Amino acid sequence: MIYLDANATTPLDPAVMAAMLPALGEVFANPSSVHKAGQDARALLDRAREQCGAALDCDPREIVFTSGGTEADALAVRGLGRRKVVTTAVEHPALLGACAELERAGAGVIRVPVDRAGQLDLAALDAALPGADLCSAMAANNETGVVFPLSRIGELCRKHRVPFHTDAVQAAGKMPVRVRELPIDLLSCSAHKIGGPKGAGLLWVRRGIQLAPVQVGGHQERGRRAGTENVAGIVGLGEALSRAAASLSTEAPRLAALRDRLEAAARQIPGSRVAGSGTERVCNTLNVAFEGCDGETLLVALDLAGVAVSTGSACSSGSLEPSPVLLAMGHPPALARGAVRFSLWRGTRTEEIEEVCRLLPEVVARTRSRPDRRPR
Ligand code: PLP
Repeated sequence: MIYLDANATTPLDPAVMAAMLPALGEVFANPSSVHKAGQDARALLDRAREQCGAALDCDPREIVFTSGGTEADALAVRGLGRRKVVTTAVEHPALLGACAELERAGAGVIRVPVDRAGQLDLAALDAALPGADLCSAMAANNETGVVFPLSRIGELCRKHRVPFHTDAVQAAGKMPVRVRELPIDLLSCSAHKIGGPKGAGLLWVRRGIQLAPVQVGGHQERGRRAGTENVAGIVGLGEALSRAAASLSTEAPRLAALRDRLEAAARQIPGSRVAGSGTERVCNTLNVAFEGCDGETLLVALDLAGVAVSTGSACSSGSLEPSPVLLAMGHPPALARGAVRFSLWRGTRTEEIEEVCRLLPEVVARTRSRPDRRPR
């Protein structure tokens, strides 16, 4: 199989798995226990916290470990959102779901639009911010790879004295994410998009930001997230983030070149439209819609040819509605239905991309000619 669905998840990096093994075996104790065995587990947590701090360029004590990106997003929104939250029209369902929950509880939520390239309307953001408790805008879009200008968004948030959260689940490991250099206050990350295990993530919270905990009970994570820590998962997160940061300068250009090769081949196919190509994107993501094609049928045809892709966010697959992200970018619904997402990762090889470039025109042509486009 040629696996090009890294934005849904990545395989566990064998080096990350090796780092996790002690926490799955002999270092089993509760890190809150006072005895030596507990302190051994605590030492693993501390090391992982240091690794995450070094990778993100932050004080390790500002990190709250969570069960992944979804929980980190929810903690930011529920922990700070009260009366008014400003976000964007193209956020991941994890963030939009947390905002919808606030809205049902009576808070105001403004979803700032994007243009046809997928870029945020900064004038609309500026107008929306006064009086907000929180602004949340993602670092990189999971469906298109479009990168938002965090510095400019953060400056607007500073001007209006609004705390700024960014969902960096699809940015970490694919572009530099160094929080000290950025005007941001909270940031979400997830391990399984970068060769780490599923079910581990973090929320970085700048010192001084008063976050109300969602999960209460124990005193873990300095009272910001109760519950016995997932030590093995956290060790995997630390190792994965650390490795991704160390290889970024070689991996990002390598993946960008492979993505660009695939994009060039897709553009040769008449009636194709690449989402977000007119603006900055992360190195690994290509979202392309083919006129007259059904994305789900194309996905199945590619799968039969041995290529795993997605029709958008994995979390919404199974739904045949056109992607809200592409609709927000002005794709007509029929075209948005013909979109597939290719997302590359550390294991993607040149020969694999060449094989997909060779297969794609034929698979698209076959999908277009099918009278019944829906898979059964
Ligand atoms: N945010 C973004 C941008 C994502 O792409 C994802 C996962 O697809 C999430 C949040 C959720 O992360 P997790 O799967 O770790 O809960």
